[in-house]
Amino acid sequence: MASLRNTTDPGMLIDPFGRRIEYLRLSVADKCNLRCFYCLPEGHKDFEQPDHWLRFDEIERVIKAFAELGVGRVRLTGGEPLVRKNLHQLAASLSALPGIEDLSLSTNAVLLERHAENLFKAGVKRINVSLDSLNPERFKAITGGELAAVLSGLQAARRVGIAPIKINMVAMKGINDDEFENMVTYCLANDFTLRLIETMPIGSTGVTASDHYLDLQDVKKNLSERFDLIPGVMPGGGPARYMQMRNENLRIGFITPISQHFCETCNRVRLSVDGTLYMCLGQEDNMELRPLLRAGISDDGLKQAIFAAIALKPEKHEFKNKPGQVVRFMSMTGG
Ligand code: SF4
Repeated sequence: MASLRNTTDPGMLIDPFGRRIEYLRLSVADKCNLRCFYCLPEGHKDFEQPDHWLRFDEIERVIKAFAELGVGRVRLTGGEPLVRKNLHQLAASLSALPGIEDLSLSTNAVLLERHAENLFKAGVKRINVSLDSLNPERFKAITGGELAAVLSGLQAARRVGIAPIKINMVAMKGINDDEFENMVTYCLANDFTLRLIETMPIGSTGVTASDHYLDLQDVKKNLSERFDLIPGVMPGGGPARYMQMRNENLRIGFITPISQHFCETCNRVRLSVDGTLYMCLGQEDNMELRPLLRAGISDDGLKQAIFAAIALKPEKHEFKNKPGQVVRFMSMTGG
């Protein structure tokens, strides 16, 4: 295998398939204040113990190393990141690191009304919010939570100036596939971007969710006819393929890991709350950084470890051939 240290730019992370890694999804909590049936099973209590969580100073060291290796995009995820105390303090120190150009957040917005202003001041300029239904009863059935809190959180984020705000809707056959048009209308009215996501067989609940798998290629065709959509683009490092309304300022993204995967352009890895670096959402290849950090590894040693980790990055997921291969719950790495 060719050396992974990029000879042209040693400050860059290139994986074995020639893909540049420039985006890190950082899980700051595996706990969540909701129980979406496709992510965490009802009554799940087996969360990582707090003394195994990376402390803020340890997270800052890892992100600093990644930034020096050319990773300029960091997304705060969970579980639910807003359950982690003083998250705005971490956000402020990460957004101040040289090389960090883009700090974003993925949240279920249940606590967003309380935290939006502090997060915005701390450098979180754009967010993705999980919202699978606009029907309060159905929302409760899917998540176990209250829709009203999420809608208030979204309005609070808008008020403080966070933009863009993207709505992540997991598309589920027989559950919310009659709500796409309503969600488009809601996003249009609020200047939000909508992203529809195919279910993935991750964790035991993920496999169950596949019972509701919906191929988004058909949905894309129907929505394109209904709303006169044309191909569009959207800044950001994620996997969505965008369409946009011809005469309106609305974009709809389609995240299709099953029907049309995007692994050939993968640019990301994930760090879980306990400091495990996962090379791929759909595979188990990983490296534990916490023991290295707590053993006093040097900054250079940490970068060497990151290079070695990227050498483990697999080419793609195998959701179709090996559904259920990934046993960890989505909440461990945050999608
Ligand atoms: S499944 Fe793995 S290789 Fe494919 S896009 Fe996601 S993280 Fe990248």
